[in-house]
Amino acid sequence: MSDDTSKRGAAPPSLEGAAWLHRPETARVFAALGGKGGETRAVGGAVRDALLGLPVADVDFATTIVPDKVMARARKAGLKAIPTGLVHGTVTVVADGTSFEVTTLRRDVETFGRHATVAFTEDWAEDARRRDFTLNALYAGADGAVFDPLGGYQDLISGRVRFIGDAAMRIREDYLRILRFFRFNAFYGKGRFDADGLKACARERAGLRLLSAERVASELKRLLVAPRAAEAMSVSFDHGLLCDILGGVPRLARFDRLIGIELALGCDPNAVLRLAALAVFVPGDAKRIARRFKLSNAEQALLALGGEPFDHVLPDEAAAKRKLYALGPERYASRVLLAWADSAAPATDPAWHRAATLAERWEVPDFPLRGPDIMALGDFSGPQIGEMLRRVEQHWIDGGFTQDRDELLALAEAMAKSSA
Ligand code: ATP
Ligand code: MG
Repeated sequence: MSDDTSKRGAAPPSLEGAAWLHRPETARVFAALGGKGGETRAVGGAVRDALLGLPVADVDFATTIVPDKVMARARKAGLKAIPTGLVHGTVTVVADGTSFEVTTLRRDVETFGRHATVAFTEDWAEDARRRDFTLNALYAGADGAVFDPLGGYQDLISGRVRFIGDAAMRIREDYLRILRFFRFNAFYGKGRFDADGLKACARERAGLRLLSAERVASELKRLLVAPRAAEAMSVSFDHGLLCDILGGVPRLARFDRLIGIELALGCDPNAVLRLAALAVFVPGDAKRIARRFKLSNAEQALLALGGEPFDHVLPDEAAAKRKLYALGPERYASRVLLAWADSAAPATDPAWHRAATLAERWEVPDFPLRGPDIMALGDFSGPQIGEMLRRVEQHWIDGGFTQDRDELLALAEAMAKSSA
């Protein structure tokens, strides 16, 4: 290997065999925006993930064509074109029902948060330099040839998330990059986090409060479910950032335990449940965090499980069934996972495992009686009917859901007689 090559690092392989490049909708965008008078390449996540052999969902494009002409050429090719962010050079092109963001190559003249004053350019390297990390400044042409102006491929395969240019300066342009640094490390990082980047994140942390709730929430949710989320949280805590991000102190040990349990169970992570484990001590925390990140009511309800003072004792099968019946499968599973994380049991504990997976073995039964069944037994008021149903249901629950409809009807009849 010559000196020159070792400095540049590994050359990226071609992506010509990548399935997403050949999807008809992707090919239509390339065809509409290729040929004479301009060049268009896929950029960012699609190229990065394809180079790692990961599945590619969203494809973003970068182009030398100015936004007005992107609109015109897309429409001429029979594609829909929406002027999503013309001042920043972004047009959404829709091909066969799939949306693609197409952004004209640009240099950020002045940046504050997401509001950048931009100048369009035809220089690919200049466009690369305004992006956040080297591994996000990778481009691929329609033929699969990869363009890597900043050595992003070498960083990608080494698991190095490196800011492009001076880290502190790049963060001051957009403080969301602090969270993105942790998210990309949590997904693609190997070994230690880049020391310069980390130092700059710590030094610039005061800027986090300038970010909108929505932007922080969306990055944080993605960070929470990343493969190395536990390490990213711990590093961000050690560098004085996590309390500022959450607006409170974290429960790192509980967060680690939840992740370990999810891994042992092989279940998909849920960002809000992980946030509940990480940041909720008492019910008030759930409210504060839901407000801080503008979460939905359903998300707030899930968060609140993290602060419920429930016993952390392993439920026996009968108690577990009652809980599952009361909470429904999703809330039940979340609650058991948190209780397990709070217990001292290991992630491989078979009894907790059985409790957590009860819904897979036991279908929550429907209570067999309805209002009309009680009405047929006599002349009762609405509240009386409700009360009788509730008592019969409680009896059925306490009996382990074993009585059938006839038995329950007989019970209701006896109740009706005694109250008549
Ligand atoms: P994913 O879609 O998996 O989050 P992505 O890299 O495609 O990954 P996007 O948010 O879709 O991320 O952004 C597309 C590209 O735009 C990024 O790869 C990066 O080059 C650039 N980019 C996005 N956000 C920023 C930012 N805050 N600062 C600088 N560049 C950014
Ligand atoms: Mg993307």
